[in-house]
Amino acid sequence: MKQAMIQKHAGGEVSAAQLEAINRFSRRELGADEVYVFSLLLCDNAVDRDGERFSSGALQKLATLFVGKTGIFNHDPKGQNQTARIFETAVETDEGRVVENGEPYQALRAWAYMVRCQKNEDLILEIDAGIKKEVSVGCAIGKVVCSVCGADLREQPCGHRPGEVYNGVQCWRELEEPTDAYEWSFVAVPAQRDAGVTKRFSATEPDGLRKALESGRELLLDPVQAAALAEQLRSLESLAEGGRARLDQLRRKMVSLAAFALPSVPAGTVGEVAKGMDAEQLEAFCRGLSRMQGIPPSLQLGGEPAPASDNQAFCI
Ligand SMILES: [Zn+2]
Repeated sequence: MKQAMIQKHAGGEVSAAQLEAINRFSRRELGADEVYVFSLLLCDNAVDRDGERFSSGALQKLATLFVGKTGIFNHDPKGQNQTARIFETAVETDEGRVVENGEPYQALRAWAYMVRCQKNEDLILEIDAGIKKEVSVGCAIGKVVCSVCGADLREQPCGHRPGEVYNGVQCWRELEEPTDAYEWSFVAVPAQRDAGVTKRFSATEPDGLRKALESGRELLLDPVQAAALAEQLRSLESLAEGGRARLDQLRRKMVSLAAFALPSVPAGTVGEVAKGMDAEQLEAFCRGLSRMQGIPPSLQLGGEPAPASDNQAFCI
């Protein structure tokens, strides 16, 4: 998912050719005074913050795929989402600007229309006023290529990391051969956010996978993202393993303490009770039991956390 910016629309006049294009998608014939037309940049061929760029070929293909696709303005949390539809696209070239691989800068521009009605009034005013909204686009990519070694990362990961430079060659991931365009949507831009190009979901971001899964969309991971996810899972598993070991230790401690403090309660019973307790409860019981008479000093001190001082909250 890539994000770009909506552009202040040019003019507002709808040409006859545009109206004809629009009417290919509308349920009934719309007049020029019934539609509002604006343009937006969907994506470009510069390397983005995630170290990825669309190839020129990919932009051309996306230009075809996005025609007819509906966008949603989700700035109204209560629903009542307005929609607009792309009726025309073009890849624009800026010969005066060069991107990372030495090609001229190219961007995919789309023209979209909305029906002029009360529901869309405020939004049309906002676009007219030049208030920018982020546009995020979702598409399926057939091929992800490493700029350093040319490996197709969907087939074989190469270990080169985007953003790094290898023998003077900058590494990025070239997104090629888009196979589908899903949708595009407008989201309000938080004030502090960079106006750069970002992906909405990235499996390598914290929560990226969860967000992607919750979106209900097809989840496409390249091998590098898949490896990052696997690494994240491994680290979670190791944390969980540490947690289980800590619980086992606390349970054993509670059983030994109870053997001295509550000799009439069978060890098996204490063990069963301890099984149902979490770490906090076990620690509380261990503290209580170790304060009782008759506990050997070795058990009292073993692994007991130091008493909290008032300053502790400020210590890191
Ligand atoms: Zn590589």
